[in-house]
Amino acid sequence: MIIIALGAPGAGKGTQAKVISENHGIPHISTGDIFRANIKNQTELGMKAKAYMDQGLLVPDELVVDLLVDRIKQADCVKGYLLDGFPRTIPQAEALDRALNNRGDKVEYAINIDVPDEFIVTRMGGRRACVTCGATYHVEFSPTKVEGICDKCQGSLIVRDDDKPETVMKRLEIYHEQTQPLIDYYAAQGALYTVDGTKDIADVTAQIEAVLSK
Ligand code: ADP
Ligand code: AMP
Repeated sequence: MIIIALGAPGAGKGTQAKVISENHGIPHISTGDIFRANIKNQTELGMKAKAYMDQGLLVPDELVVDLLVDRIKQADCVKGYLLDGFPRTIPQAEALDRALNNRGDKVEYAINIDVPDEFIVTRMGGRRACVTCGATYHVEFSPTKVEGICDKCQGSLIVRDDDKPETVMKRLEIYHEQTQPLIDYYAAQGALYTVDGTKDIADVTAQIEAVLSK
């Protein structure tokens, strides 16, 4: 089962990917998480990626594609996987298709979590991430039991550098320019399924599960 989560930054891709991947016993692969882990470990890739991420820009395709194609060759991916935040450009989608075609695979479900721009600023402004385990919360829509402390590991919560309001606007602009065209790309392959991402978290999960049971 090869699933892609599409949607604007803050649409709820990571939130849903965690639940859906667990429900189906497949890995959740987030290129954003991979970059943030590299930044935390101060790797060369992390330093390069950070320069783009902090400005709300996409990391160049050449730094992302090989990394992702290597990741999906790993043993835990044999039964499938859920990609969150990849592909983000048409060249990335084409590179993924080439890698999959070589093995007789294809993207089965490109799930577009549809959330209008006016919701996004509130979503990202309230997003909090655990510095230790990366779990994501929202101050209003998905709060922790104790303010500022991760429910899962008791780590501290922070606002992501790229969730500052000026960066959010840039990320949305880049989304519309470079990532939204993927909706037509996957529609043309007959793999596109759109869910209403403005509903509450459990409702969106139910919509996605309904798609996956088709
Ligand atoms: P993405 O991975 O698409 O950037 P996230 O999954 O991190 O988005 O969600 C962005 C923020 O919105 C997080 O703070 C998350 O807790 C919150 N969120 C996610 N889904 C919903 C929803 N359906 N309703 C309200 N808030 C949500
Ligand atoms: P995310 O956690 O998916 O919101 O990603 C955070 C940031 O990482 C993005 O704003 C980009 O700068 C970078 N990034 C993550 N995935 C990709 C990708 N597939 N292509 C380019 N940049 C990416």
